[in-house]
Amino acid sequence: MGPLGPVHDGARRLVLTLPSYAFIAMLLVACAGMGFVQPWQSTVVIGYNVVGIGVFYGLVRSGMSTRLAKDSSLAFQRVLFNASMVVLAYALIPMARGQALQWLCLTILFDMRRMSKVQIRLAAASAYAMLVGTVLLILKFSPSSIDMGAEFINVAMASVTLCVLLVVTQIGQGVNQHRKQQQIELERTVAQLNALSIRDGLTQLFNRRHFQTLLDEEMRRSHRSRRPFCVAILDIDFFKRVNDQHGHAIGDVVLREVSRLAQGAIGPSHALARWGGEEFLLLMPETPLSAALQTLEAVRRAISEHDWGQHAKGLRVTLSAGACEHPLGLDLSPTLERADRALYQAKHGGRDQVMAASP
Ligand code: GH3
Ligand code: MG
Ligand code: MG
Repeated sequence: MGPLGPVHDGARRLVLTLPSYAFIAMLLVACAGMGFVQPWQSTVVIGYNVVGIGVFYGLVRSGMSTRLAKDSSLAFQRVLFNASMVVLAYALIPMARGQALQWLCLTILFDMRRMSKVQIRLAAASAYAMLVGTVLLILKFSPSSIDMGAEFINVAMASVTLCVLLVVTQIGQGVNQHRKQQQIELERTVAQLNALSIRDGLTQLFNRRHFQTLLDEEMRRSHRSRRPFCVAILDIDFFKRVNDQHGHAIGDVVLREVSRLAQGAIGPSHALARWGGEEFLLLMPETPLSAALQTLEAVRRAISEHDWGQHAKGLRVTLSAGACEHPLGLDLSPTLERADRALYQAKHGGRDQVMAASP
């Protein structure tokens, strides 16, 4: 399953919070029913809740939230709204005051991972300021409803708890960051290993195993599209002599240079592999034999005209190639054998040349 779109993700996040809102609403209704709370007090808090959630849902569903904030679920804004809802309940329902602090903490913790460090600090500071402001307002307008000792403890506990919460969230975010970093490094290593597993270590061309997969894919594709492809076997001439006269290290340099030059001479849709020691296989999808021969001629020329003297005095390198067009619907082995026979003819014809397989 792919990642969720921002609108869908934001809406899902909002829906996740609904049970806790519903629970608070039910609790308030029950308290009102049992006479612990005045019905109008429950109604105001529930109404505030419903309107707030409605506004958030509208913003998220319409996609406006993605334009308003980086985080499509509006976590920071929701946390501020939740804090305002908690202090409203705090002001209106004295018996709920003991639980206010828990709710403030829970609301920040729930969306901690979606907020930046600054937003978490701002959310905690705003929640604290709203709580202290509400206590002061109650003290001014309804001093009889206040229990000074309990309020003092509430505010003091809020100071300590929100500070601890801040530290905990910072640590949590640090751990998250570390985990994300490890995940990225792991994915990078896997990608590198994958890339390495399909390449030949010396020439960086595709290796034989991976090329077999490419050939199978090409067989299926050409079968479907009814368009032919060509293969060619390329072999460096007298390479044993290169090793004998200039040493194995120069032999390796030649292999790398031949690979680089050949890769540069073939089109981007063609694929080249190191098939064996100094032997290469070229796959030319959707290419008729005439075009394949032109490509091979370009490769042959690039090798024979290269300034090999820069690598070792008196060094000269050429290659021979045999090409074959694969007949639709047949196995690949006979095609490779025919390309190999064409290569044999090129060698016997004097090397440094390209031959097409006879039909
Ligand atoms: P021909 O023109 O008929 O192809 O002659 P050739 O000398 O190229 O062919 P032969 O098969 O006799 O020799 C191939 C040589 O390639 C022998 C082997 O030592 C050398 N070789 C194979 N793999 C490597 C390699 O990775 N590095 C180096 N330096 N040499 C290699
Ligand atoms: Mg050779
Ligand atoms: Mg050979």
